[in-house]
Amino acid sequence: MDTPNKIYLTEEEIPKQWYNIRADMKVKPAPLISPATHKPLTFEELTPVFCDELVRQELDDTTPYIDIPEEVLGFYKMYRPSPVMRAYRLEKELGTPAKIYYKFEGNNTSGSHKLNSAIAQAYYAKKQGLKGVTTETGAGQWGTALSMACAYVGLECKVFMVKCSYEQKIYRREVMRSYGANATSSPSTATKIGQKILAETPNTTGSLGCAISEAVEAAVTQEGYRYVLGSVLGQVLLHQSVIGLETKTALDKYGIKPDIIIGCTGGGSNFGGLIAPYVGEMLRGENFYRLIAVEPTSCPSFTRGKYKYDFCDTGMITPLAKMYTLGSHFIPSPNHAGGLRYHGMSSILSQLYADGVIEAVAVEQKPVFESATLFARAEGILPAPESAHAVHSAVLEALACKDSGEAKTIVFGLSGTGYFDMTAYETFNNGTMDDHVPTDEELAVGFAGIPDVPEDI
Ligand SMILES: *Cc1c(COP(=O)(O)O)cnc(C)c1O
Repeated sequence: MDTPNKIYLTEEEIPKQWYNIRADMKVKPAPLISPATHKPLTFEELTPVFCDELVRQELDDTTPYIDIPEEVLGFYKMYRPSPVMRAYRLEKELGTPAKIYYKFEGNNTSGSHKLNSAIAQAYYAKKQGLKGVTTETGAGQWGTALSMACAYVGLECKVFMVKCSYEQKIYRREVMRSYGANATSSPSTATKIGQKILAETPNTTGSLGCAISEAVEAAVTQEGYRYVLGSVLGQVLLHQSVIGLETKTALDKYGIKPDIIIGCTGGGSNFGGLIAPYVGEMLRGENFYRLIAVEPTSCPSFTRGKYKYDFCDTGMITPLAKMYTLGSHFIPSPNHAGGLRYHGMSSILSQLYADGVIEAVAVEQKPVFESATLFARAEGILPAPESAHAVHSAVLEALACKDSGEAKTIVFGLSGTGYFDMTAYETFNNGTMDDHVPTDEELAVGFAGIPDVPEDI
């Protein structure tokens, strides 16, 4: 049966519960541990930094389904359900027998999937009676999403924005300010750790890890503030499961079973959310899918990183998370996919990767933008540079089907739009885009900063 260009769900079909992958994992992801004692962090130790309810979700490895609060569902209804699209014109352009679908998360003002978790986190912070939240933003998508969510629930929002983005992405910065958020270039003089990093490396372009250190410090030193994070954590993957649950409901309507599911990975939240119900079926032994995480060769956490306990930030003030990491001091070259420049990876996805449940590939920037423009011309949507990594991998899989003659069903996550990222497209269009693939020696510098944790593998 032919499927329509868009598979829309009704508001009633938005899931009422998030799905927690961890409940079905036989080998649970390693817990966050204290850098001092190497013991798993408790509720009491985590709540000075994070909101209470979010800590409960972070520590919950066993509850498979968690109710989405009514207020969050109400907010979701402003821009969800998001459509699943059939890429008919892209298929034709590629001459592939493969059937290509994508789940489009860019149809809200912030332009990405990050709003799905931002509203949940802002809601729990408000419910706890907090005054405000602090966070970091790399490319700016998380900061814009969080400022929208905070404006909606009535919460103050302080965003530390990685310096190179703060200077390059003035439109994102101004969207945040328009929603009432306070945006600070990181490293800044507003925090002790920022001052220290500036003294050591005055010309730094900043990094996500550094901005995280500043945001955590700003949260714990101000009354009524907590820190929130837009990716990596288990709670974020939980909230993002709305993407995969909607995708599955939509595809099931037409009896479509994906062979391959693809998503780009920075900290792993959009991919983790997209694959959630499918990975659940795999873990329960009900079905098999190829699940492919796509990362840039300039920041290859999965494909060249070490599976170790490491700090989540450059300042080494956060808990240790076990993950595929390039070392918290690794600063990738200024690549255009800002959201994929994080040194680590979700602990959930890391465990799934170590167990061989998911695959990972690294791709170079220029071919990624070739696929992005091909996709834009065929399908009309201009992908975010991050999402373009998933587009590219889907194109490669579709071309492999052309060679083998197999009509596989490929589903990928189009996590956002690129309208605020036009310098990336400008560089590509001018033919001046390059890419720095780190050498083994360069990676060794980052690895040297990974702490020694005895029970580590
Ligand atoms: C932030 C971002 C990403 C990367 O983050 P994940 O947590 O890995 O999803 C990918 N795509 C877009 C559009 C983003 O804004």
